[in-house]
Amino acid sequence: MLILKNATLVQFEPASVSEGQDIAIEGALIKEVGSHLSARYPQAAVKEMQGKLVMPGIVCAHNHFYSGLARGIMANIKPSPDFISTLKNLWWRLDRALDEESLYYSGLICSLEAIKSGCTAVIDHHASPNYIRGSLNTLRQGFLKAGLRGMTCYETTDRNGGLRELREGVEENIDFANQIDAAKTGGRVPYLVEAHIGAHAPFTVPDEGLSMLAEALRATGRGLHIHAAEDRYDVSHSHDKYGLDLIERLDKFGLIDEKTLVAHGLYLSDKDIEIINRHRAFLVHNPRSNMNNHVGYNQRLGGYNHLALGTDGIGADMFEEMKFAFFKHRDAGGPLWPDSFLRFLHAGNELLARNFGAQFGRLQAGYKADFTICDYASPTPLVAENIGGHLAFGMSANSVHSVMVEGRMVYEARQFPFEVESIYAEASRSAMRLWQRMDALS
Ligand SMILES: [Zn+2]
Repeated sequence: MLILKNATLVQFEPASVSEGQDIAIEGALIKEVGSHLSARYPQAAVKEMQGKLVMPGIVCAHNHFYSGLARGIMANIKPSPDFISTLKNLWWRLDRALDEESLYYSGLICSLEAIKSGCTAVIDHHASPNYIRGSLNTLRQGFLKAGLRGMTCYETTDRNGGLRELREGVEENIDFANQIDAAKTGGRVPYLVEAHIGAHAPFTVPDEGLSMLAEALRATGRGLHIHAAEDRYDVSHSHDKYGLDLIERLDKFGLIDEKTLVAHGLYLSDKDIEIINRHRAFLVHNPRSNMNNHVGYNQRLGGYNHLALGTDGIGADMFEEMKFAFFKHRDAGGPLWPDSFLRFLHAGNELLARNFGAQFGRLQAGYKADFTICDYASPTPLVAENIGGHLAFGMSANSVHSVMVEGRMVYEARQFPFEVESIYAEASRSAMRLWQRMDALS
């Protein structure tokens, strides 16, 4: 047993701040929260927190770890005036150039950087069309090495190889989910990584693909993770080709349920939002990515019952993402205040709970011991009513001191428990080779 002693507990939902508290942790779970716990558990190891803020783990609910080696990219990229040409000229060439080695380093670097930014979990959405089979397990190895919790899935699509590519994508999702089931019962490796069933976006998945995905959901008991209405093109394509709204079409195939994660949704209809809410599905908002791609702004954040935040591949600094979400909303004249964005930031924990079948997101007995620990010197009172304000205007990833996942310190006093310089050096060499391979692709 381990006791985190003399911490300031910051709960997000419902919000509260309580000083001078101890947290007793047994295995992966919180055993008890209260004062003077070392007297109750004299055998326990004790870590003195000196009043640091212990918060429920921060979750990045939509990310692309395959883009980890794209930072500062120097490859021949044609001018890309709109979203579809950005996909074709940059992202769909990067993903085709990925091989096992570059994907491993991409995933590992993203896992380390996520932890450093205070994330305890990241929900990933993956594509590597020339290395599909086994790719999700390669990513999983990066999560496990870093000690990060998360989920991943393969973005099923027909954009490069028609029916064959659809089949390979679905098979990789099913194989990975089965592998997770086997690992859970085997119990040799910590249960840190779960599976979604992935699909790229409605405009690159024909009806045959949706049928296969529905079968994969039934076979594995997992939920769908898909982009929808990131750009207006997705909506027009669906109306033109299928005569249906986007979510309406997915729902027709039985693909929307409470494990579903829809990323973006900028141009979803009232009917689509109603379907998402009726099934208790999640929308994940990625404001920095939307700004970067100039696709517009999601004006309907308040319309969703379950909304979480993601970065869509722009790192995993959720303090930053939450600030952008709030400021962009203010800029667009929206009605929501920081407390709403605190709830959105926290909501990723509910996604974990539904998919891992455990309790996440509160500092309370029985919940998973996944914590983000900050040393934040506040110049003003920090109380239940203003946590959102401190996050929007004060705290940042620089405040992150330590991170605990599954009861284990995976980052402590701003250090990883293993040497990372050589990993960064190898990643940089791998990135150079990846960029060269991209230039060789048309
Ligand atoms: Zn995305």
